[in-house]
Amino acid sequence: MVVVGFGGAGCAAAIAAHDAGARVLVLDKESASRAGGSTRVSGAVWFDNRDPERAAVYLRSLSAGRPVPEPVVEVWARETARNSEWMESLGIPVGLAVPAPAEFPDLEGSDVMCGWIGVEGRMGDGLLWAALSQAVRARDIDVRLETPARELITADGKVVGLLADAPDGSPLQVRATRGVILATGGFEANPEMVRDHLRLTDPVVWGTPAATGDGLRMAVEAGADRARTTASKSRRAGSGAPIPWPNSPRSCESIRMSCGTVSTATTPPAPPVLTTGSAAPHALSHR
Ligand SMILES: Cc1cc2nc3c(=O)[nH]c(=O)nc-3n(C[C@H](O)[C@H](O)[C@H](O)COP(=O)(O)OP(=O)(O)OC[C@H]3O[C@@H](n4cnc5c(N)ncnc54)[C@H](O)[C@@H]3O)c2cc1C
Repeated sequence: MVVVGFGGAGCAAAIAAHDAGARVLVLDKESASRAGGSTRVSGAVWFDNRDPERAAVYLRSLSAGRPVPEPVVEVWARETARNSEWMESLGIPVGLAVPAPAEFPDLEGSDVMCGWIGVEGRMGDGLLWAALSQAVRARDIDVRLETPARELITADGKVVGLLADAPDGSPLQVRATRGVILATGGFEANPEMVRDHLRLTDPVVWGTPAATGDGLRMAVEAGADRARTTASKSRRAGSGAPIPWPNSPRSCESIRMSCGTVSTATTPPAPPVLTTGSAAPHALSHR
């Protein structure tokens, strides 16, 4: 199984797939100093809900007018009751960081949220990503940084692998007999996507500049339904100052250039087989 993205979602997916018996490869386009996505610079706290049924009510309230599909509501409500239990099962100490109410306490169902929970009962400091990435590293999981995924490979309507760029820029073809998980985060650092999907101009990037919507683009190009990509709109504006990304150029021009690199690289190399440092070209195969 191939996981694209080494942020919180990618780490969780890689750990779960590995522990379920899969052979797992994780790819991230960033270097060691910048991998970890928005997860690395986030507040790093989460909610456990006290009652999945009421949590489902809360999510429906939050998304009123633009309903989230019911199967997603159900899974979210069920699984967010188990976040801390899962973290503890990995040996990560967790505790209440901030005894805050739900972010929108006036909405129906908000009473099920019971404070912000964090690693060691603390916020920020990259603690969540540090803990999750360590759990990945402690397993037999192959993590390759500076290896951007650029295109899904499909056969008979199924995703069977992907094309990526190796750190030296050479094409890399990866077969995935158990699927590809796209955990590339959002698209806040892609001004064109923010304009087209959210109708906002001059967005401020609070998180990683790697959030250029690559996974969404790859999924849509492979035939995924894009019905929900226009639905994201907060009920209330957030507040606070942007958190600087280490060594980030943060200029729109550099973001556009990186998008351009990704989008112009969609032509499959011929032959689409890679090199990963060995003398003889070979393809990677992951189950
Ligand atoms: C300042 C800030 C504070 C926040 N605080 C909280 C909080 O306290 N609690 C909370 O629940 N949420 C918080 N959030 C939101 C939360 O951080 C994100 O929703 C979450 O981190 C997203 O995780 P992710 O794994 O989906 O994406 P990310 O963590 O962004 O990871 C995506 C990864 O994919 C990689 N990638 C992208 N494209 C490619 C490609 N083509 N090939 C290979 N790799 C690729 C990126 O380099 C990155 O490492 C906060 C966000 C910000 C910006």
